[in-house]
Amino acid sequence: MPSYAFFHNEFVPLEEANLGVMTNFFHYGTGVFEGIRGNWNGEKQRIYLFCLKEHYQRLQRGCRILKIDLPYNIDELCRITVELVTKCGFKEDIYIRPLAYKSSETLGVRLHDLESDFLAFAFPWGPYLPEKARCCISSWRFPGEVPREKLTGLYVTNALAKTEAADNGFDEAIMLTTDGYVAEGSGENLFLVKDSQLVTPASYDGILMGITRDKVMALAEAELGIKTTERHVDRIELYTADECFLTGTAAHITPVAEIDRRRIGNGEIGEVTKRLQQIYFNVIRGNNPKYLSWCTPADKKTPVTEV
Ligand code: PMP
Repeated sequence: MPSYAFFHNEFVPLEEANLGVMTNFFHYGTGVFEGIRGNWNGEKQRIYLFCLKEHYQRLQRGCRILKIDLPYNIDELCRITVELVTKCGFKEDIYIRPLAYKSSETLGVRLHDLESDFLAFAFPWGPYLPEKARCCISSWRFPGEVPREKLTGLYVTNALAKTEAADNGFDEAIMLTTDGYVAEGSGENLFLVKDSQLVTPASYDGILMGITRDKVMALAEAELGIKTTERHVDRIELYTADECFLTGTAAHITPVAEIDRRRIGNGEIGEVTKRLQQIYFNVIRGNNPKYLSWCTPADKKTPVTEV
């Protein structure tokens, strides 16, 4: 099935969306990206975009940091995304990659005196991690002094961590802060279950404030009566947790079976994790009327003015 991109203010076939080699963004990581999931609901025959607006709010925060003048406001970005997904017409789970970037074909390390542009494309994407992930603590630490938004250049540390983990036979890396506290996975936030309560690293641990993280905390409290404590988490606490799971747009809720070759709980999917997964997967596919406001349908049935 052909895929499309929104590129230079129009929809074009994906293969026609190409950037020149001198584009500033390529050389200095001067871009901000997002990852948005479109979840296919077979019964309703439509795709639901999860937390569309929140993703563009975060993109906008990143753009402020990198002095990128986004040529569209948040409502326009949401409408562009719905139109893109409708045009693609996929009938399966998809991933949307919006990118705001310094588009001038000009070299020189700076943020000023450069043009900005925005692009987005969508493609079918199934599970990002295995059903149960085997993780290790990374030797790569995320630099503490840099802002935690989705700035493309910052992801080189995460890529180093992920490949170190893969080279050592693991599925995912867990990164520590420069102080040695647990921060997050290379593309996910992390939760522990301890005595039936949830614990997760706090914003002051330099994590990306994940949208899935936020929704999982809300669902745990509203649907299971489980509160989450946001605090420093020690590496050793990981080894003795009752359960551990990762959250992210790509990874959804992925149970962690093992960390540094130590089994978490009995190595199977824990009870709290399982219940949260059930609730969450129902919500993101638009099957729970209570949380439909978190989901934007993207198909010809949705008038774009309603997005
Ligand atoms: N941390 C990092 C480093 C990430 O790249 C992501 C994925 N965006 C997350 C956490 C999870 O964020 P979200 O739930 O908003 O996708």
